[in-house]
Amino acid sequence: MSIVDDYQDIRDGVTALCANFPGEYWRKLDANSEYPDEFVAELTASGYLAALIPEEFGGSGLSVEAAGVIMEEISRSGGHPGACHAQLYTMGTVLRHGSPEQKARYLPDIANGTLRLQAFGVTEPAAGTDTTSMKTVARRDGDKYIVNGQKIWISRAEHSDLLLLLARTTAKDQVKRKTDGLSMFLVDMRKAVGNGLTIHPIDTMMNHHTTELFFDDLEVPASALIGEEGKGFRYVLDSMNVERTLIAFECIGDCKFFIERAKDYACERKVFDRAIGRNQGIQFPIARCYAEMRAAELMTHEAARLFDAGERCGAEANMAKMLAADASWNAANTCLQTHGGYGFAREFDIERKFRETRLYQVAPISTNLILSYIGEHVLGMPRSF
Ligand SMILES: Cc1cc2nc3c(=O)[nH]c(=O)nc-3n(C[C@H](O)[C@H](O)[C@H](O)COP(=O)(O)OP(=O)(O)OC[C@H]3O[C@@H](n4cnc5c(N)ncnc54)[C@H](O)[C@@H]3O)c2cc1C
Repeated sequence: MSIVDDYQDIRDGVTALCANFPGEYWRKLDANSEYPDEFVAELTASGYLAALIPEEFGGSGLSVEAAGVIMEEISRSGGHPGACHAQLYTMGTVLRHGSPEQKARYLPDIANGTLRLQAFGVTEPAAGTDTTSMKTVARRDGDKYIVNGQKIWISRAEHSDLLLLLARTTAKDQVKRKTDGLSMFLVDMRKAVGNGLTIHPIDTMMNHHTTELFFDDLEVPASALIGEEGKGFRYVLDSMNVERTLIAFECIGDCKFFIERAKDYACERKVFDRAIGRNQGIQFPIARCYAEMRAAELMTHEAARLFDAGERCGAEANMAKMLAADASWNAANTCLQTHGGYGFAREFDIERKFRETRLYQVAPISTNLILSYIGEHVLGMPRSF
């Protein structure tokens, strides 16, 4: 549909893999709220989930742009990369700020699939978007930390061995800047569950395997701390920028899925003895979706290239996520409308993808908060909160 990169081999490889997991596979999982174990196992075996892990640790050492293309092609083929995308974006923190010992200990096993790093724990029920007001605390006690608190919407926790956790190590009223005093930990959930960590699944409108986590005097070894204590907010931004960029790629994949389906149906479906796509009332909204997708796609590649070059990419990652999520939501709505009543039938996969792409107006950061970031940090307008 559009080529703006040099990753055709990856596109072809992922498309071929996804052909073994057609709409029927995802529909069945969706109906039963099941995790795509076989799909994730094949994606891992083929090396795609270790795309960002350096070659010296058994990965393929690819760029964020290449990882984004992998996510995009899963979405475009009709699958749901939300089942496994965290293994890629958590690398933003682990690779840049993890110690050589942590990398040597975990990365080879993550790369070969014996260890899963699929959970990223930031959001809390009371704090919501106001991350620095989080209440989960990690208190140093000799050679360990004791963690207490609660997280919400932590996806794939039941399908992950490790959790990248953000917690407060110094109270907010005792730090100069509210972003100080937060720390990142790589928690081994295999030891934690039943010993201070409880996981409760949350039933949601799409099959996203999200959960609530309760920490009750969970002991975490001090060696699980990533980087320096109190600097976790700075480290988490690397994962958040990669997360926003990769999700923008997923939304671009969704756009391509919806536009392709809408175009094909508009050309085939005859009403009043003519293809409905001959009517500009049907054709123009699809054409607009294409233009919106292309604009968002360019910004998404720009965000990835800046991250890969080690440059500041906060503005571009945020704008890419917002533009791509808006484009995919409009494309979803347009595709459903183009299909008339058939769009609501589950066998077309459109209503499922419609539900899946709707999430990205809210998570991992809502549109309002991106607009606020642009207003304040890019345009220099007054702070509103
Ligand atoms: C299915 C799902 C999966 C998720 N997975 C994860 C995960 O794996 N890990 C994780 O840490 N989090 C995860 N999240 C959480 C997600 O990142 C948050 O839901 C999101 O950041 C919004 O936070 P909130 O839900 O607390 O909304 P709130 O902060 O309560 O905001 C509610 C609404 O008010 C708006 N709002 C709030 N403040 C302002 C303001 N100052 N100005 C204008 N508007 C404002 C917001 O834009 C939003 O629309 C997930 C969420 C969902 C639904």
